[in-house]
Amino acid sequence: FFDAKMIMNARSVHQLENDLRVSLVKNASELHNAINNSEFALYYQPIVNTKNNKVHGCEALLRWNHPIRGLVSPALFIPMAEQVHLMTVLGSWIIRRACADAITWPVRKDGEEISVSINISPIQFLEPDILFSSVKTALYETGITPSRVKLEITESADFAPSMKGYLQELKNLGCMIALDDFGTGFSSISHLVELPLDYVKVDRSLVKDLECNEPSKVARATRLARSVLGLGKALDLITIVEGIETPDGITAIQALGGNLIQGYVFSKPLQADLISEFLESF
Ligand code: C2E
Ligand code: MG
Ligand code: MG
Ligand code: MG
Repeated sequence: FFDAKMIMNARSVHQLENDLRVSLVKNASELHNAINNSEFALYYQPIVNTKNNKVHGCEALLRWNHPIRGLVSPALFIPMAEQVHLMTVLGSWIIRRACADAITWPVRKDGEEISVSINISPIQFLEPDILFSSVKTALYETGITPSRVKLEITESADFAPSMKGYLQELKNLGCMIALDDFGTGFSSISHLVELPLDYVKVDRSLVKDLECNEPSKVARATRLARSVLGLGKALDLITIVEGIETPDGITAIQALGGNLIQGYVFSKPLQADLISEFLESF
C-alpha cells in the first residue's frame, strides 16, 4: 500500500509527483490500455448501519497499480488525472465498473440490497452531459437498481451555481446524492441547505479526537460531533461518519445519533473479490 514509506524512499515528494505527472501524461493517450491492463482497480469499503449492525453499502475507492511504483494513493494521482484531463474518461470507467461490481454482491439476509457509493470529481461536472450519459449507460447496461447508486460529490472552490440542477438531473435518474468531506475545504452550510442531498458524510478530521485518550479533547470532539450530526438531522439528511477506527468510536457515534459509520474498525477498503467474501460473512 502506498504510504509515507514510499515518500521517504523517493528523493523528494516533489520528484515523485513529477515522475507521476510524466508517466500520467505519457499514459494519457493510452488510458484505455491502462484500464485494459487492469492498472486501475476499485477497492470497496463497507458502510455499516449502527442501529442494526448491518452493512448499508460500500464505497468504491480507486487504486492505481503502477507498473513501477506499486499501489499509488488516489490523493496523489486523482488531482493529476484532473490536471491532464483524464478524469472524465477515468470517471466514466469508475461509474461503470462500480455498478458492474455491485450487482454481483450478495443480497442481505433480510432482502435489502447493498448500495454502492461512487466518488464524482468536481471536474466531471465540467462536462455534465458525459457524466449523465455515463450514469445512464451504467444503470441501463448493468441493470442495477438506480436507488442503490450513491454519488458522492465534493465541493470545490468554483462550485458552480448550476450544481443544484445537475444534481437534480442525477436524482431524476434515480440515484442518491451524498455530500462528501463535510467540514473540510470549501464545504458550507448553505450548500447543505440548498442542494438536493440525501446523505452527508462527516469528514474524519471532525471526529478523530473522539478516539484519542485526552479527556478534554474527547469532550470537545463530542460536542462538535453532536452539533454536526444534529445539523444533518435537522436537514433530514442521513449522516455517515467517516474514519472510525475503534469500538469506542462506534459507541460514541451511536450515542450521538449518527446513522452510518465507515472506517477501519469494520474494514479497510478491500479488493472486489474480497469485499464479496466480507459481505457474505458479515
Ligand atoms: P474520500 O472519498 O473521503 O474517501 C475516504 C478515505 O478515507 C479513503 O481514502 C479511505 O481509505 C479513508 N478511510 C476510511 N476509513 C478510514 C479510517 O478509519 N481511518 C483513516 N485514517 N482513513 C480511513 P483513499 O481511498 O486513500 O481515498 C482518498 C480520496 O481520494 C477519497 O476521499 C476521494 O476524495 C478520492 N478518491 C478515491 N477514489 C476515488 C474515485 O474513484 N473517484 C474520485 N473522483 N475520487 C476518488
Ligand atoms: Mg468519498
Ligand atoms: Mg469522504
Ligand atoms: Mg475525504
